[in-house]
Amino acid sequence: MSLPAGSTIGIIGGGQLGRMLAIAAARLGYRTVVLEPQADCPAAQVANRQIVAAYDDQAALAELASASAVVTYEFENVPVAAATALAASVPVYPPARALEVAQDRVSEKTFLNGIGIATADFRSVDSDDELTAGLKAFGGSGILKTRRMGYDGKGQRVFRNMETGGFAGTCKAMGNVPLILESFVPFEREISVISARGLDGTIAAYDPAENVHRDGILHTSTLPAAVPPRTAEAARAAAGKILSALDYVGVIGVEFFVLADGSLLANEIAPRVHNSGHWTEAACVVSQFEQHIRAVAGLPLGNPRRHSDCVMENLIGDDVLRVPALLAEPDLMLHLYGKAEARPGRKMGHFTRIGGRQ
Ligand code: AMP
Repeated sequence: MSLPAGSTIGIIGGGQLGRMLAIAAARLGYRTVVLEPQADCPAAQVANRQIVAAYDDQAALAELASASAVVTYEFENVPVAAATALAASVPVYPPARALEVAQDRVSEKTFLNGIGIATADFRSVDSDDELTAGLKAFGGSGILKTRRMGYDGKGQRVFRNMETGGFAGTCKAMGNVPLILESFVPFEREISVISARGLDGTIAAYDPAENVHRDGILHTSTLPAAVPPRTAEAARAAAGKILSALDYVGVIGVEFFVLADGSLLANEIAPRVHNSGHWTEAACVVSQFEQHIRAVAGLPLGNPRRHSDCVMENLIGDDVLRVPALLAEPDLMLHLYGKAEARPGRKMGHFTRIGGRQ
């Protein structure tokens, strides 16, 4: 059953991803209501209505449920309890199970390994002694990350060739929260696949993007990725496996490390539209945002075919000063997020240059 035009889609989270979802929803004839504690957020600027409240505010969630024909979200740290409670009165897509898996790096990797998708070796770490033992097991190198609430490289510490110990105080310095130690992956490049699953179980995957990070934040996504066809196909297939295993509805982003022999290790699942899929706005007829709205609204998925090569680049902080020069370029699509203040590290917008690798 598809949502009739004029229906309202609820979006939890009011950042740029919510904004782009709201714009796509409007293009398909839908209305949107955004739940977000920050007033005049990027999504609310283009949505029909905002409920200004915390994501776990019971009254606000009830209001969102009664105002919406379906509820979705733009970030993976939506409280699982809130998504589960909402799902009792309104369809919530992607399913709460996807949030549960993606919110904890240990459950994420356990889930991936369980369905036959390889990841870096990992161990959960709750003490400095466990860290010492883990690093020893991984030959002295590894990345220590918070299990929950980490993003854009925050809450991470890299160890190289440090087998001997002397890690007293590390867990405390990381905030005494549950941690994961991952073995250090000697990757050649990083790619991600944006894929979607419709209400009818149909799957549509975009081409993998090759991603370059700077200071832990995505800098560029380049299409095509410099990987052999079998690597691209393996990435698409892995994303499809994840979507089916989670009985998923909507768009998912899956990040991978590519090793020298072309094999893949999955790094992260994002149960939402993803920064490394912004290029689809400019280089595909149906963007990841429209695809997500189509999926949650029960419409047929669009064709994920890429009609152009392209490079997407994020505008972080003062990068917005480049806007006048970017606007002068002929084959460039610019997208700004309506954020007033350009703080360092803040994603202010992005652009996609059509044609060729940089
Ligand atoms: P994440 O927050 O897990 O996406 O990690 C941020 C970035 O750190 C990744 O995009 C990689 O560039 C790097 N990284 C994360 N985990 C590993 C790993 N196990 N081995 C090598 N590099 C990693």
